[in-house]
Amino acid sequence: MKLLNPGPVTLTARVRAALAAPDVCHREPEFAALTRGVIAKLGRVYPEAEATHTAVLLTGSGTGAVEAMLGSLTPRDGRTLVVSNGVYGERAAAMLAAQGKAFDIVKGAWTEGLDLAAARSRLAAGGYTHVFSVHHETTTGRLNDVASLGAICKQRGVPLLLDAVSSFGGEAIAFDAWNLEACAATANKCLHGVPGVAFVLARRGVFSARPSGATSVYLDLFRYEKEQRAGFSPFTQATHVMHALDAALSELSDAGGVSARSAHYRALSDAVRAGLGALGVEPLLDPATHSATLTSYKLPPGLAYATLHDTLKEQGFVIYAGQGDFSGSIFRIAVMGDLARADADRLLGCVRRILGAG
Ligand SMILES: *Cc1c(COP(=O)(O)O)cnc(C)c1O
Repeated sequence: MKLLNPGPVTLTARVRAALAAPDVCHREPEFAALTRGVIAKLGRVYPEAEATHTAVLLTGSGTGAVEAMLGSLTPRDGRTLVVSNGVYGERAAAMLAAQGKAFDIVKGAWTEGLDLAAARSRLAAGGYTHVFSVHHETTTGRLNDVASLGAICKQRGVPLLLDAVSSFGGEAIAFDAWNLEACAATANKCLHGVPGVAFVLARRGVFSARPSGATSVYLDLFRYEKEQRAGFSPFTQATHVMHALDAALSELSDAGGVSARSAHYRALSDAVRAGLGALGVEPLLDPATHSATLTSYKLPPGLAYATLHDTLKEQGFVIYAGQGDFSGSIFRIAVMGDLARADADRLLGCVRRILGAG
């Protein structure tokens, strides 16, 4: 089975084998050494950030990391500007609301880019302690123009918090130019690990510069950061999943790092887009705005999502439905995980047969 949903991904044999590592107690030195090794490797995924940012590891999914980042790093008496154009921006606003933190939202249409003009004028008015946005908005597959948003943040001196859950490891991130205080991500999207470990890569200085803003005991990054300097964690870590992440990070490095992985994704996405285009299946967005990792397509007239999904699943592929307003009108294809050009070609052959094009 090849997973074409945006995480969890199809595992490589090397990552799967790492799951069979010996049982280990999370309070023993060998697990602390593994944890410190994973933190070091995460710090090197983007060499630019190695000296300035540190990874804080949590047991949970990407949403947990985003919630921990927002909860811990936005001050209780702060105010955050959420710049949103999809499900994940709106989810972050819901988290701030649940935390009882003040925020405003620049809520853009899901089919449009970030509303930079509105963000610029809000920030010019002042009063914000943080800006939050989503790097790759997986709702549509748009790679948001975080470079422009980050430049505004830098100019205004407001730190940016980024949901990089579906881009970390697969797209370029400019930590300094974007004024990035922290980004949240997970083991099981572009890093090709197993679900169960998520993390926040945060500017080292924030943990000593101010108190934690956390409104939750479990999701307080400050507590994790302090204990993880020695490799330990306040609560049980997903020990086997950590071994798998360690292997996945070595594999990413051996494969040439983020730029090589991004180019591999881009080649696969381009091949799928060209093949589907030849069958008359159109992307939802202007292809120039798409991420390397995921493309949304309009469902061809007369073809129900369930029919497409179920028939492809019988052939060994899992595709992904649209969310919210897009359910029933689009489908999504992600190319993260252990996928090769031959898989893309076989997928195209299956879709051709489903569409009756021979
Ligand atoms: C997948 C995703 C999430 C949520 O991750 P989970 O692991 O499902 O909790 C958050 N943000 C973005 C942009 C995502 O693609």
